[in-house]
Amino acid sequence: MQKTFAMIKPDAVERNLIGKILSRVEEEGFKISGLKLVEMSKKQAEGFYSVHSDRPFFNDLTAYMSSGKTVLMVLEREDAISHWRTVMGATNPEEANEGTIRKEFGESIERNSTHGSDAVETASEEISYWFSGFEI
Ligand code: UDP
Ligand code: MG
Repeated sequence: MQKTFAMIKPDAVERNLIGKILSRVEEEGFKISGLKLVEMSKKQAEGFYSVHSDRPFFNDLTAYMSSGKTVLMVLEREDAISHWRTVMGATNPEEANEGTIRKEFGESIERNSTHGSDAVETASEEISYWFSGFEI
């Protein structure tokens, strides 16, 4: 079993898509090990996305991520990291495969409805950025 960190981003929370996305999480065989709803600050968003701090989209991205509520999740499954990224689809919803969450719900490359860690190391860092041990 492997853990990954996932989010339902503000664009999807705003459009009342929490239930639909959590249903998909469960249908895909993930166990939800941690779950919370937060309204992150700009600073928290900047810390979380610090790997992208030199990118032109950094300021807009962190403003958007702190513009409303986000669902934070720790998901557990065999091959959780790669499986969740497959279920989400490509970063840009226009390039995402049919049947993926980003294809179905994403509004733009920024407002793409969900997040998923990209590797074992980042999954572990991202889980500890948002969750303390007793919450998982
Ligand atoms: N993003 C953006 N513009 C871009 C690329 C990415 O606004 O040109 C946003 C988008 O919300 C994405 C996040 O920044 O999900 C992190 O980018 P990354 O390349 O890590 O994509 P992901 O791992 O989320 O697919
Ligand atoms: Mg990424």
